[in-house]
Amino acid sequence: MPEKLRVGIIGATGMVGQRFISLLDQHPWFQVVTLAASERSAGKCYKEAVGDRWRMTTPMPAWAAGLTVKNAARVEDVAAGLDLAFCAVAMPKEDTKAMEESYARAEVPIVSNNSANRLLPDVPMVLPEINPGHFAVLETQKKRLGTRRGFIVVKSNCSIQSYVPALHPLREFGLEKVFVCTYQAISGAGKTFKEWPEMEDNVMPFIRGEEEKSEIEPMKIWGDVQGGKIVNAQAPLITSQCIRVPVTDGHMAAVFVSFKRKPSIKEIREAWESFEGKPQKLRLPSAPTPFLHYFEDDNRPQTRLDRDAGRGMGITVGRLREDKILDYRFVCLSHNTIRGAAGGGILSAELLRAEGYIGGAGR
Ligand code: NAP
Repeated sequence: MPEKLRVGIIGATGMVGQRFISLLDQHPWFQVVTLAASERSAGKCYKEAVGDRWRMTTPMPAWAAGLTVKNAARVEDVAAGLDLAFCAVAMPKEDTKAMEESYARAEVPIVSNNSANRLLPDVPMVLPEINPGHFAVLETQKKRLGTRRGFIVVKSNCSIQSYVPALHPLREFGLEKVFVCTYQAISGAGKTFKEWPEMEDNVMPFIRGEEEKSEIEPMKIWGDVQGGKIVNAQAPLITSQCIRVPVTDGHMAAVFVSFKRKPSIKEIREAWESFEGKPQKLRLPSAPTPFLHYFEDDNRPQTRLDRDAGRGMGITVGRLREDKILDYRFVCLSHNTIRGAAGGGILSAELLRAEGYIGGAGR
């Protein structure tokens, strides 16, 4: 077994940071050696810094509980000895962008859950099953940042990870229009019902910035690498509404689609069932098999029953049927803090390692 890479988590005390800690417990390739957060948490042991904010259903691992949390603003201190850091912080965008670049310049590859660097054309926004080829732009980014091995790779917004995986295998039929309505869990806002009692027995029609991200980010994911940069795709045309619903975890999406060449239901089902990406072919530790699971039962996927498919990394789909206005409609679901955040980041890091972008001789 190869030597484990030494990783840090920046924003370790938050909802996504806690998910990183629980998913990286006993990870075969990565060992968490450094935790960082704001100056409010700095200097405390992790257990104390988190206090009553531990939101995972599994206990806090003992190795994490005893680690002293570092101040994320002290980049050289946090970066020392790291092969890689995951970053998920609730900070103003410009500050996040500057902080991530400082870590990259300190020669630490960053896998980020934040939106600050997402739309730059030399920053790969990778959904590992869909656009692993976008890592190719890292050379351009490293030249811009003046780094040898430091870079930034980002994850997309969590809402699109429920429907982009299901749409991707259908692009071969000339996907033209997509109407999507997402029903998003409260953990997507970093909250529990205890912290957000207004969400009990309630639905809220607005999530700031989410509809824009839901429409733009897929175009980057489906973009091409040209001249060392990502050039966004032009189709399909996507319109979205993003709604907050009273569930703890799991983002669901109701999707309507039209095509240049309308496929049959059988063709769509075959496209879903036969699809596998690089993580499945390479058997990466966090890769779900299957990536996409279709339910025959009209009553699935359901958030509570199905969000943990493939240990929270699988995408579940159901209710494919003809539509009176567009061609077809269906429903899909993904776990927002696992596939949509920490788990997706870990899978990206596994792919970076498998493809030699981190670890190895360049360490
Ligand atoms: P959260 O629960 O509010 O946690 C925020 C984290 O940021 C905490 O660790 C906090 O540390 C840290 N932080 C705040 N100000 C900081 C500063 N000035 N310097 C360093 N660290 C600071 O938020 P979250 O839900 O985990 O989200 C974190 C990021 O992931 C956000 O960009 C969010 O958009 C993104 N994201 C979230 C989800 C999701 O499902 N929740 C999905 C995808 C992406 P302290 O405890 O010390 O304050």
